[in-house]
Amino acid sequence: ATIATMSVPADFDPVLASARPTFDEQAVLGIAAATFGLRAAAARNLGSERDQTFLLIDGGSSSIAVMKLSNAAEDPATLDMEALAVLHAKRVDPELPLALPWRVPGADGDAADPATRRVAIDHAGGHHYVRMYDVLPGHQRSDPLALSDAALRSWGETTARVGRALRSFFHPAAQRTMLWDVQHAPRTRAMVDTIRDVEQRALVERVLDRFDEVVVPAWPGLRAQVIHSDLTTDNALVDDAGRITGIVDFGDMCYSALIVDLASLLDSLLNDRGPDLFRAARLVLDGYQRVTPLEPLELRLLGELLAARAAVTIAISSWRSDRGLEDAAFAERYNDPVARTISTLLDTGWDEVARQFGADLPASPTGRVSLAARRAATMGPALEPLTYEIPIHLVDADGVWLTDVEGRRYLDAYNNVPCVGHNHPRVTEAIARQARRLNTNLRYLHEGAIRLAERLIATCPPGLDTVFFVNSGSEANDLAWRLATTVTGRHGGLCTDFAYHGISDAIAPLSPESWPGGRQPEHIETWPVPDPARGQHLDASALQAAIGRLDARGLALAAVFLDGVLTSDGYPTLEPVQAQAWLDATHRAGALWIADEVQGGYGRTGETMWSFQRLGLVPDIVTLGKPMGNGHPVGAVITRRDIAQAFADETVFFSTFGGNPVSMAASLAVLDVLEDERVVERTAMAGGALRDAIRSVAAGHEAVVEVRAVGLAIGVELTDRVTAVAIKEGLRQRGVLVGTSGRAGNVLKVRPPLAFTTADVPIVAEALAATLSATEVR
Ligand code: PMP
Repeated sequence: ATIATMSVPADFDPVLASARPTFDEQAVLGIAAATFGLRAAAARNLGSERDQTFLLIDGGSSSIAVMKLSNAAEDPATLDMEALAVLHAKRVDPELPLALPWRVPGADGDAADPATRRVAIDHAGGHHYVRMYDVLPGHQRSDPLALSDAALRSWGETTARVGRALRSFFHPAAQRTMLWDVQHAPRTRAMVDTIRDVEQRALVERVLDRFDEVVVPAWPGLRAQVIHSDLTTDNALVDDAGRITGIVDFGDMCYSALIVDLASLLDSLLNDRGPDLFRAARLVLDGYQRVTPLEPLELRLLGELLAARAAVTIAISSWRSDRGLEDAAFAERYNDPVARTISTLLDTGWDEVARQFGADLPASPTGRVSLAARRAATMGPALEPLTYEIPIHLVDADGVWLTDVEGRRYLDAYNNVPCVGHNHPRVTEAIARQARRLNTNLRYLHEGAIRLAERLIATCPPGLDTVFFVNSGSEANDLAWRLATTVTGRHGGLCTDFAYHGISDAIAPLSPESWPGGRQPEHIETWPVPDPARGQHLDASALQAAIGRLDARGLALAAVFLDGVLTSDGYPTLEPVQAQAWLDATHRAGALWIADEVQGGYGRTGETMWSFQRLGLVPDIVTLGKPMGNGHPVGAVITRRDIAQAFADETVFFSTFGGNPVSMAASLAVLDVLEDERVVERTAMAGGALRDAIRSVAAGHEAVVEVRAVGLAIGVELTDRVTAVAIKEGLRQRGVLVGTSGRAGNVLKVRPPLAFTTADVPIVAEALAATLSATEVR
């Protein structure tokens, strides 16, 4: 058969439409001697689709070389590409077990000239090229079902290494239409008529239909390069453990999507596994992704490409045997198993296939109610209720924008944790890179924690020179409390009226916002925050009175906690002189001052890195959380050495996750971005613009009592809780997310990521204006 007689498009790889060469053993021995001067005693045909491949054996029955005789239809440029690719891959990854083509004895041309690695011979009116290779160790044609889990992973890993080694390789011959490359699956439609088994034909057609509909339009979005494309059990040698010891055939190389490599590999390894197919696939992918993490689109399409490869297998082999190019039994040996694989994939459903392969497919929008029910069922009633009457089910984020499961976008004017913006690439990449490399604990030296500690110390006043790493704001405050009680030997604590400092057994008492049953713990007192609008609590007398109440109960004050922006108290305006008076009174009482920077830190005020600096305070202990890792859980305590020493005299401190390299990488990235993007400066501008815009929108609306702001911490005091909730809901309907706070729950908490800019201000202002106009004042 020749191209001229084919009914399929004529521009694809002619080798596929041409019969293998048919040299016999005697001829092969003669050719080996004549071309490479190799005298072998015997030649064993190793079988191949395109070429003939022989193992040459000496008189002592040792294997001495592998000889390949190319197809008469083969373009020598393809052979050159193969030789150059192998040499290239070997340079990039010398440990890859690749067979290198020998140089022809006496050939002129330098080592990089691929033509020096083949000899042309004429036979029956055609050219054939002779190439010689070292014999690689290992067994041929391993049984994929016998591969261990470890072997499956190693096949994935080796495949990824081959792809990586070819990443920078190109050769014009790679731009060919090689039908086994599933990007050309639609072309095999012309072969479908030759599939004799009607059921198989129907399966192939379904897969090709799906391919046209889903894969073809998405194809241009896939990573592409020159790939091996055929790393299968036919083309790899393995050791006793089933791991690849040799990759022997680069004959199907082409420029295609990188994951075509994986589709071929999975096609080779996964047949006849039944439902275990997916588990085995994931192990292969684990190995692959140790080297090359897959992109979301790749994970989503991989199952479809596997099906396409299976369909192509049936189509090409049926066509080749129909044309008499190959013995049907041999050509079609894989058709039954691959047809069963197609059936398994179709029965599973494409979305589920994608999920099984690890794609993060968006959940179905209809799932919201049942998700809420499952949340309640599994997490119980003590968990804070979902925000909003109709809960928001978020699936994506970027900067100050959040996207829900229905694709609706919300401007995030509420979440302070992602301080440099949701999904900041500097942070996410730092996390991913470090997670890929190493994640341990502070029992071992690692630069991350040490660098971060040094950088944090450098942001603090002299004397605050010792850092403890923990995992949340609560833990930071818990440790701060332990430090304070240890150092002072006292047990009385003080916090603001409606403060929140955390969840632990020690800190919940210092969180009147969530005191159980509103009951005040015996050892805790609170003092009211200033209310400048009403001229109340504008000096330290309320704080002093609270200390007095503790004294009266025989409790000496150990420490005072202050959130420097008074978040849960509703962002009342706090002047430096006032804060200084509180701190002085605290120190006079012999207690420590704990600056809780979980809310006010990281530039939130738009004035200073830490809110205590804006207030002119020098605290004894500083606690960090929320924004520190931009969403990655991490917290810290910064204190003086004498305090740390007093604690060390009593005990040792160790937190399993505290200071782990991944958290440290996230936190270091946050500090870098804060500097590079001049976040504090920008926060001042955005905060000022937002405050002014809200004030001007609020003017004339009865519902608004006062607008208070420091940086991007803005409190909009409303007449009452019901109004605040209604406005929060109204803003949500208009695509803007805020919160509420304050003892009366009547303060809108507008506290966006610090990635919020002046450009975002009008969006909030317009939504607020519309909401206020539509909200009835009670
Ligand atoms: N301190 C303050 C001021 C907080 O706002 C919070 C959390 N809302 C915490 C501490 C506790 O932090 P976490 O939830 O990370 O334990």
